[in-house]
Amino acid sequence: MAEFRRGAKNLRRNAKTAARRPELGAVISRATDHAIIRRREVMQEIDFAAQRRRIQQLRQNATQNLPGLLDRFKARVEAKGFHFHMAVDTNAARRIVIDVAKRHTVQTVVKSKSMLGEEVGIREALEQAGIQVTETDLGEYIVQLNHEPPSHLTAPAVHLSTGEVGEILYKQAGIGPFEKPEQMAVAVRQFMRTRFFNADMGMAGANALIAETGAMLMMSNEGNIRLVTSLPRLLVVLTSVDKLVERMADLAPLIRVIPKNATGQRITNYCTVLSAPRQGQEVHIVVVNNNRMAAAGDPVFGQAIRCVRCAACINVCPVFRTIGGHAYGTVYVGPMGIVLTNALHLDPHARMLSDACTLCDACAQVCPAGIDLPGLILHIRSSGNPRLIDRFKAWVVGMTYAGAGRFKAAFWALRLFKRLFAAGYRRLWRMLGWTGRRGVPRVAGKTFDRMWDDDAKGD
Ligand code: SF4
Repeated sequence: MAEFRRGAKNLRRNAKTAARRPELGAVISRATDHAIIRRREVMQEIDFAAQRRRIQQLRQNATQNLPGLLDRFKARVEAKGFHFHMAVDTNAARRIVIDVAKRHTVQTVVKSKSMLGEEVGIREALEQAGIQVTETDLGEYIVQLNHEPPSHLTAPAVHLSTGEVGEILYKQAGIGPFEKPEQMAVAVRQFMRTRFFNADMGMAGANALIAETGAMLMMSNEGNIRLVTSLPRLLVVLTSVDKLVERMADLAPLIRVIPKNATGQRITNYCTVLSAPRQGQEVHIVVVNNNRMAAAGDPVFGQAIRCVRCAACINVCPVFRTIGGHAYGTVYVGPMGIVLTNALHLDPHARMLSDACTLCDACAQVCPAGIDLPGLILHIRSSGNPRLIDRFKAWVVGMTYAGAGRFKAAFWALRLFKRLFAAGYRRLWRMLGWTGRRGVPRVAGKTFDRMWDDDAKGD
């Protein structure tokens, strides 16, 4: 991460840095290809279109009624003995969690992976308060050791090769050396046991908050969430208001679709429904807003709040697969990251993220919440003040495509230009910033139109 700068305004610079490291794109593509292929296989077992309609509907119902659901959820959890806190923003979330930790003289925390935790910087805030925090998800633990943020929603260390992971574990935690991922996982698991048993406080996120019953759904593949939520006598669930759903029955399509869409698994290994504090345990639920309620009511961005964080849109995004997550400079990356960062105003230069999109539509095809990601990204892109050079490029393309005659004339001129000034033609593409990772486009000797006409004539 050292070579990547934080902040959306650094996207272009970071993307260039990433482009100079083709091995990064190769590692990411290998991992995401695996998820895409497995997704395709398991999706044949369900009617994705029907499930998508169901998820879209239930998420829409929930996001349009967040205040009502929040009141019901609060009443239910308090009746069960949970402590409920509402945090309007990042600072409030940090303050509440640190107050709880200090009141119990907490010195060590075991934490499960949570993007909201990244959004509010809770680990850093706890560490600044002198509290030792251990990430218990394997990928998240590796990026913690490497002093970098996760680069993907569900696979935090997707940008690292197996060799790099082994080196980090050995150098930073003295675990290993091992070459096989299985050996690393077993060693980390043993090391984590002592952290779980000795932790003063557990900290987890939630995949869904059920207003009807006051229960919380937590999904994990490694089983670490069960240990985080059940071993320490003090537990903080840090979650966000957009995770609310109305009924217990709403969990069924989420549990059925999220793992298939995310990693191509039929079901997540551990689905925990936390419905009451265990005996002798104190549980605090901190529900963060951070602009979500306002965004849910926005006529354009309202649909973005339906996101169930499956990361399928990230896996299929050609831009993410090339530059990786750190290049975005923001907590949320890929197509959903572009949209959420803008919808929630998480970065003053969020609009610049919309440059990281080819509008290929791949993300919209896989989104189980039916979010029109390309449409929203196009909206974000058109809402700002583009650079002069980009406006010029758009004008040239607009003029060229405005009619068949112009299109033909433009390509005729381009062919002529290339024939007369071969070196100038190459320089032109270089000036347009096209050749960083691509070759100079060749101009076909015969246009498609011409081939079509010739074919029709039977030539
Ligand atoms: S935008 Fe859709 S595909 Fe992307 S993470 Fe959210 S729910 Fe999944």
